Amino acid sequence: MTRAPRIVIIGGGIGGLAAALALERRGAETIVCEQSPSLSEIGAGINLTPNAVKALRALGVEDEVNAIASASNFLNIRSWRSGRYISRTRRGDFTEKFGAPNLSVHRADLLDVLAGALKSTDIRTGTRAVSVEGRANNAVARFADGGEIEADIVVGADGIHSAVRKSLFGADAPRFTGCICWRGMAPVDAVPRDINISDGALWMGPHGHVVHYPVRRGELLNIVAHCDSDSWTEESWTRECDVSEVMTTYSGWNSQLTRLYPCSTRWYKWALYDRDPLEKWSVGCATLLGDSAHAMLPYLGQGAAQAIEDGCVLAAVVAKHPDDLDAALLSYERIRAPRAKAAVLGSRARAKENHLASPWARLKRDVKFKLRETFGGGTKRDNTAFQVGWLYEYDVGKEMG
Ligand SMILES: Cc1cc2nc3c(=O)[nH]c(=O)nc-3n(C[C@H](O)[C@H](O)[C@H](O)COP(=O)(O)OP(=O)(O)OC[C@H]3O[C@@H](n4cnc5c(N)ncnc54)[C@H](O)[C@@H]3O)c2cc1C
Repeated sequence: MTRAPRIVIIGGGIGGLAAALALERRGAETIVCEQSPSLSEIGAGINLTPNAVKALRALGVEDEVNAIASASNFLNIRSWRSGRYISRTRRGDFTEKFGAPNLSVHRADLLDVLAGALKSTDIRTGTRAVSVEGRANNAVARFADGGEIEADIVVGADGIHSAVRKSLFGADAPRFTGCICWRGMAPVDAVPRDINISDGALWMGPHGHVVHYPVRRGELLNIVAHCDSDSWTEESWTRECDVSEVMTTYSGWNSQLTRLYPCSTRWYKWALYDRDPLEKWSVGCATLLGDSAHAMLPYLGQGAAQAIEDGCVLAAVVAKHPDDLDAALLSYERIRAPRAKAAVLGSRARAKENHLASPWARLKRDVKFKLRETFGGGTKRDNTAFQVGWLYEYDVGKEMG
């Protein structure tokens, strides 16, 4: 191909913008079509594990992300009622172990960094795709306003309810996981001083767990409380609820948590869905990326991480096979699908172990975590409680050149 490949990305979320940045940097002509009237993200935190930070490094925005992030020295796993420390994973040495730190950020700040780094991408907001057709040598995206765009590749980065996925592979509903969550965001100044909020925390109890970590250079505290429930199934990230719901659900839990909840003036609740992993991501020159391909539970903090890695790999294979985009997309899904599938299934498995109801099963789990923290596990010295070194050590920039 003598000209730059023209690539249309449906969806301007974290995955879509990361892909646009990666493609732009490899010389592609990129257009992002976002249904919302502006690029925006919900007021929630996101944890960037070392593999995500390395992917952002490959995109050239590591410094910008560092400037808006918080880094905690430990991830403390604590027991729901007593507050006992089940394990303390040292995160301070992640750079030495996994090649990058663990950072936590506000989602809107991360989106701003990605959007701010884009130079030539044509961003079209208020543009909702209704269908995509993947052909042998190109693809076409059709929009709600009746318009269409033909491109060398169309990428569906349009999230868990992807219209692109539906066009390419037919309708299939996301799977309700039996888990719901509440999320709040508290100004750090509003939190009682005796509560440890500088470390990342994960409180585990029967049928639920609660995470909190600082974001925005430590100015805000992100709180997400998860529990098993089938009484609520709405998958909306913006449904507001009263803090009393959270207080009631976690009434027997440690007072460090119950005193934390009222520090957030707004609470939102949503039901968590994932999807069974897809074996095939592409049809002709149309493909999927991020949650549209591999929506997963957030329990390994990998949804956005995998989406950013997807973008880096897609850009690298397109640059490698500019004259054979079919081969590029085959290579893309061959590289990405197994890793994303492992993250989807690994996250599902965590839901069970995080929420064990039997005290005996919890004790056995806690001892296992402590042993891992103390002695490490796996082939490398991986001291993470969940043995996720295999996820963290991956460096998409080094792998793809
Ligand atoms: C509670 C919770 C906590 C999480 N924590 C973490 C974490 O700590 N670490 C992590 O890595 N991941 C985390 N995740 C997962 C992460 O948020 C998602 O995996 C990530 O946002 C996926 O990005 P995406 O760009 O694929 O999809 P989305 O973020 O959903 O973006 C899709 C975009 O497409 C647009 N769109 C949708 N349909 C159309 C259409 N038809 N036409 C045009 N535009 C369209 C949407 O408006 C949106 O802007 C968490 C998720 C949840 C629910």
